Amino acid sequence: MRFALSNHERIEATPGALGICPGCSAEMLARCGTKKVWHWAHKGQRHCDPWWENETEWHRGWKARFPTEWQEVPARDTTGELHIADIKTPFGLVIEFQHSAIKPDEVVKRTNFHGQIIWIIDADRRATDRAQYERMLSENRPQRFDAVDIYTVYSEETRLLKEWGSLGRIVGFDFGGDNLCLLTAVQGRSRYLFDFPKAEFARLVIAGKPLPVVQFGKPATQGYRRRRF
Ligand SMILES: [Zn+2]
Repeated sequence: MRFALSNHERIEATPGALGICPGCSAEMLARCGTKKVWHWAHKGQRHCDPWWENETEWHRGWKARFPTEWQEVPARDTTGELHIADIKTPFGLVIEFQHSAIKPDEVVKRTNFHGQIIWIIDADRRATDRAQYERMLSENRPQRFDAVDIYTVYSEETRLLKEWGSLGRIVGFDFGGDNLCLLTAVQGRSRYLFDFPKAEFARLVIAGKPLPVVQFGKPATQGYRRRRF
């Protein structure tokens, strides 16, 4: 984890530092090696959040776009189960950054736990995903609305869409660079994708504002209209 508590303050891992876990209050050790990003680890025990994923520079880069007090926020459900959200806003929105492979039923479980959640996926992890994505776009003619190119694609068209496209939540695919490929709307087997600047994504989330969504207009208009939630 990026933060531990020391005298009730959130501190980052530095060599030799000690702290306690904001989730379970166990003692934590600062791990400051050369292979992994500097982080806090539970002393002599497994992580209190079984869903916790080892952090990469990719995670840290994303988290750093948001206020520190929104990062790594512990939450318990009604049964007392503890999970630590990567980002949780004061508006109740959770953002999870997913780098590793994850089973579909796990995704559903976590989505249900957090409720209001946006998933950001490290789409650069598998070599084939970018190739599939680029091929999909090259065979597609986007429609332009409000100066945004919207791609209508088939739900099974790429492996990433198969995995994430039917969750009923906003998903951002991060292929690197300054933009996210955002999926904010589905209809039947159609999925609507558009590029959106990461900086603008963070700005809207921080302001508690909705992301743009794509929505079908009335049948007579035969097109999309963008609206905000
Ligand atoms: Zn803990």
